[in-house]
Amino acid sequence: MTVIIAGAGIGGLTLALSLHQQGIPFRVVEAVSALKPMGVGINLQPHAVRELYELGLEADLERIGLRTGEVAYFSAQGNPIWSEPRGTEAGYNWPQYSIHRGELQFLLLRSLQARAGMDIVQTGTALADWEEHPHGIRARLIDRATGARRDDLDGELLIACDGINSTARAKLYPDEGGAVWRGTMMWRGITDGPAFLSGRSMAMAGTADRKFVCYPIEDNGDGTVRINWVADLALPPGTDWNRQDWTREGRLGDFAPHFADWSFDWLDIPWVIANAEGIWEYPMVDRDPLPQWSFGRVTLLGDAAHAMYPIGSNGASQAILDARVLTREVMRHGRAPEALAAYDAARREDVNKIVLANRGDGPDKVLDVVAARAPDGFETIGDVMSAEELARVAQGYKALAGFDVETLNARPSLIEM
Ligand SMILES: Cc1cc2nc3c(=O)[nH]c(=O)nc-3n(C[C@H](O)[C@H](O)[C@H](O)COP(=O)(O)OP(=O)(O)OC[C@H]3O[C@@H](n4cnc5c(N)ncnc54)[C@H](O)[C@@H]3O)c2cc1C
Repeated sequence: MTVIIAGAGIGGLTLALSLHQQGIPFRVVEAVSALKPMGVGINLQPHAVRELYELGLEADLERIGLRTGEVAYFSAQGNPIWSEPRGTEAGYNWPQYSIHRGELQFLLLRSLQARAGMDIVQTGTALADWEEHPHGIRARLIDRATGARRDDLDGELLIACDGINSTARAKLYPDEGGAVWRGTMMWRGITDGPAFLSGRSMAMAGTADRKFVCYPIEDNGDGTVRINWVADLALPPGTDWNRQDWTREGRLGDFAPHFADWSFDWLDIPWVIANAEGIWEYPMVDRDPLPQWSFGRVTLLGDAAHAMYPIGSNGASQAILDARVLTREVMRHGRAPEALAAYDAARREDVNKIVLANRGDGPDKVLDVVAARAPDGFETIGDVMSAEELARVAQGYKALAGFDVETLNARPSLIEM
């Protein structure tokens, strides 16, 4: 008997590696027939990096990730508001990485295959339903492309790591409906361009309604970097929006004009947008916090449990923490419902708070406060917001999301080896 993991995204693969590390049997089913390294850049916070290091992935992360050295906030006029060091520069024992999501997923996949066998992830196999018995669970699986039934899989636990449109969540919460959009569209891209600010800075400019976020995910070694960027724009109420699809192409004309005069001395944003390799459009969506993740032998993990706005760089990091805490609880309680209840109790309320904080623009709310006080810009940020107030906003979010530097450095590992 085994732990059934549905979904080979960041959360499902981290869980598989963690269970393998502890000698706990598992199987992974993944809906798509062939995984491809999709997505653009994401950030891994030090608390998640610590977990991946403890899975033995330090050298690989150093190879494919870029250590984020600083976070810097700017007004819509390009004036500096606040900056602070990140990762080891901020005193953490672990770095923060800016990394391509698809490369991270493939690092996890290849590592898992090398450790647990090439056939450990069964692709083209989607979780469709399940039945729970007193001593186990039977997962009903299908080939999503054809609708054909696949062989059922028996296990002791079913962990649904099946992302924002989770099949398991829809069964557990049949009245919930789709992900919620509140009017902000995101256009994402990657551009080879000049290194900016510290060369390893994550920069945020504007306000929640019109924001540009950019950071390098790779150093090209010739003074240029691969700049990952996201342009956010609040669209008028009633705007028709497309169901979320990470591969939908975006159109320059839909958003670039809103950033046309954002040519700053630290980065020429219109140039970055115009020279992108590709542009993808994705609505900023999330889901309401849930009152329960674990039901008997089934639980939700990662976006299936807590899809959140990509603000504050926490989606992937929280999925990684979920995977590690769940593994710890399976070690403590065995492959039994008690493990899932303990995981729910340990994680759910904390993560729900992050979902709600991100709706309020997370740590980026500093941009909105400054814009409200000084809509036409400012000469000196100290006239608008004190250094103490700025530091309070940043520190508050870090504590909420579990990566306050002293607390993280001092606490023992989630999984004692
Ligand atoms: C293709 C893709 C591209 C993305 N690009 C970005 C990006 O550019 N920036 C960003 O911030 N976030 C991106 N994300 C989301 C980001 O990966 C997650 O927010 C975060 O990493 C949490 O990971 P997760 O494992 O919970 O979910 P995901 O990484 O979304 O993984 C879920 C996995 O479950 C699989 N799945 C779905 N339904 C089933 C089912 N019924 N049975 C079995 N498997 C199923 C999916 O195919 C997917 O592989 C992307 C997600 C995907 C799937």
